[in-house]
Amino acid sequence: MARVTESEVMAALRALNDPGSGRDLVAAGLVQGLVVKDGNVQFVLEVDPAQGAKLEPLRQAAEQAVLALPGVTSATAILTAHRGAAPAARGAAPAHDHGHGHSHDHGHEHGKPAAAAQRPPLPGQPKAALPGIRSIIAVASGKGGVGKSTTATNLALALQAQGLKVGMLDADIYGPSQPRLMGLTGRPQSPDGKHIIPHKVAGVPVMSIGFLVAEDTAMIWRGPMVQSALMQMLRDVEWGPLDCLIVDLPPGTGDAQLTMAQQVPLTGAVIVSTPQDIALLDVKKSIAMFRKVDVPILGLVENMSVFVCPNCGHESHIFSHGGARAEAAKQDIAFLGEVPLDIKIRETSDAGKPIVLHYPDSPQAESYRRIARQVWAAAEAQLAGGTREGPKITMQ
Ligand code: ADP
Repeated sequence: MARVTESEVMAALRALNDPGSGRDLVAAGLVQGLVVKDGNVQFVLEVDPAQGAKLEPLRQAAEQAVLALPGVTSATAILTAHRGAAPAARGAAPAHDHGHGHSHDHGHEHGKPAAAAQRPPLPGQPKAALPGIRSIIAVASGKGGVGKSTTATNLALALQAQGLKVGMLDADIYGPSQPRLMGLTGRPQSPDGKHIIPHKVAGVPVMSIGFLVAEDTAMIWRGPMVQSALMQMLRDVEWGPLDCLIVDLPPGTGDAQLTMAQQVPLTGAVIVSTPQDIALLDVKKSIAMFRKVDVPILGLVENMSVFVCPNCGHESHIFSHGGARAEAAKQDIAFLGEVPLDIKIRETSDAGKPIVLHYPDSPQAESYRRIARQVWAAAEAQLAGGTREGPKITMQ
């Protein structure tokens, strides 16, 4: 069967009307980030925030219209409520293919005039209040493939096992991996079309763009779209009261990291690195970014530190051991602990069976729990200090 083309998809979407402007969806500038790959079609409908919830039927109609085209095997439309979206979309800001790659160091060069209103506030400006969420901890890394997401997953589950109420937000819009690591699939329910009821693993609510978009298809996201998608995942998901929301950031220092660092009241950031990467520029850039926007760095986790032979238990220090601790000290950040390079961690992580949950008695799970205790102690210190209250003097 012939493969569907982008222009066929656009033509199908032209048959639908935007109730707001009375124009068709394409003319109204609502259709953004179209990706057509092997019969799988994905796009974003950028709508006025005031209209957001009401447009769920339109989103569904758009999906159905595309799905009805010959050669289409799947269609996914995502609504992003976006102030000033229509003028920006009317030809001013071209979509850039960020691909699936992991260097999104493009900052805000997409900030065309209409999009400028979407820029994050400068440091010191007010951040979004997220009632019911006591603390937000970002898990970051200088580059991809160092085990940041695996660490974030196990950290969230270890904190939950510690008795805290924990949530997981996968902020990697370009390459979401939490659905796979947590062993979750399927679009979450949204009975009112506005709030999202997140999937849960061991009581931990998990939200990821990966529940809406197929993992192997790269979406095209412009800077402002990243921001609005992230803010909606934060605000519209029924997180419930949480002691701690863990945010799995994409690697590096791009739009998503800046949005989270500048618009969300982060309690702090945990930086994950492998021993051989710790001294490299990527990690230094990540540290510098958080410092620049006044996000406390809770500390550094060294992942894939020692190799424990699965047969004999012998520990091999493939990369110079202790380097991460020394480098952390050099950069004046706390060392939160280390996780071995271990086949069981890789297998469980890739099978969607996090080791902390499925093998809680293993030494690997214990290493994550140890790190979780350190992370929470550092977060609590920030929370206590963050009230900016002077010491209370009590007269006896
Ligand atoms: P990132 O989020 O930094 O891109 P991932 O968490 O996706 O990294 O991990 C990359 C790969 O490394 C995955 O296959 C994962 O299973 C594996 N991995 C992560 N941590 C470890 C570890 N400590 N030991 C062995 N494999 C690991």
